[in-house]
Amino acid sequence: MPTVEETVRDGNILFKINSIVGSQPETFQADENEKLAALEAFLGFLRLQGKETKALRVARVLAEDTRERLNEGKALVAYNSVNVAEMAEHPVAPERATAWLAKIWSNLEERLEERETGIQDVARQAGLSIYAWPRKTLGAGGAGNNSTYDIEFLKLPASDAEPTALAPGSIAYVQDLTLKPAFWLRRLIRTGFALKGWRRIAFLVYGIGGPAVVGTLLVLLWLALTTQSARIPTGDIVTLVFFAAIVGLLGFAFLSPFWRLIDLRIIMAPDLLLSLRERGVQLEASKEPAGDGRHVRVIRLVRYSGRCPKCGETVHLYDGRREFPGRLVGKCDEHPAEHVYSFDRFTKTGSPLR
Ligand SMILES: [Zn+2]
Repeated sequence: MPTVEETVRDGNILFKINSIVGSQPETFQADENEKLAALEAFLGFLRLQGKETKALRVARVLAEDTRERLNEGKALVAYNSVNVAEMAEHPVAPERATAWLAKIWSNLEERLEERETGIQDVARQAGLSIYAWPRKTLGAGGAGNNSTYDIEFLKLPASDAEPTALAPGSIAYVQDLTLKPAFWLRRLIRTGFALKGWRRIAFLVYGIGGPAVVGTLLVLLWLALTTQSARIPTGDIVTLVFFAAIVGLLGFAFLSPFWRLIDLRIIMAPDLLLSLRERGVQLEASKEPAGDGRHVRVIRLVRYSGRCPKCGETVHLYDGRREFPGRLVGKCDEHPAEHVYSFDRFTKTGSPLR
């Protein structure tokens, strides 16, 4: 795994936050009970994801079979692509299984990368020191031949927030997704947008320069209207006022999230930043350790979710609107009007608001 310095030197603008923290996961000799608990946490996390994709299904069957072997006291084994296809109940000819799984696995790696924090969070909340992680081991044959697949157990990286004891009726949230933003922003944000160097300046220019530009445009329009109103036909005035309204509205739409993010540290992500299929996503400006003992603020798209303590359905975050101004609240998918919880970004917990 490259260090931060190496990545930056290679000309990559952005780097993975995990490598800043410097807590490279390591395989850990855990006892069977802890492995079982880690598998339970992993499977519980997968259930939070709603609709199951093929990739997540492969991860689930690997974890389930590993859990079964542990329960029966059998030794853990690695599976080949034919085994995995069977377990996932995917009808594929044995000679085609390798190609089928190779494609799914690269998709799974992408999905897992977005969910790593969440998978670690559920294990941490369960009081564990390890977490379960699907692994592909390349075979000696090369070209994906004879590759094997299993679940490995990795040591949890150290975390700022110790797991808080949950009061009865309270909810524990996990950051279940760290998203890739919409394609046009992807190059800019990728896994994090650290506010350092030129990016810090770009952010400030956007936040301070933006209102200045919008303000100047509006003043110019106002001047055009007041100084020459006698000569301007009514139709033109209407057009100008209309134009001013559009500029004002666009300015507000683009800039208000910026100020709200600075103010609140976490807001619901503007739709503009998201792909169409993603909803319930937050824009978070979080403090990350920068390695040299200082902190850097990182802006990223994340999604928090949890399990409703009342009915067991998934809880997603929403803007508190008029009832809970300036706050994000968790609402259960099945009973959104009644099962409402507060949301504390630091402890990742919430208590009932109804
Ligand atoms: Zn509920």
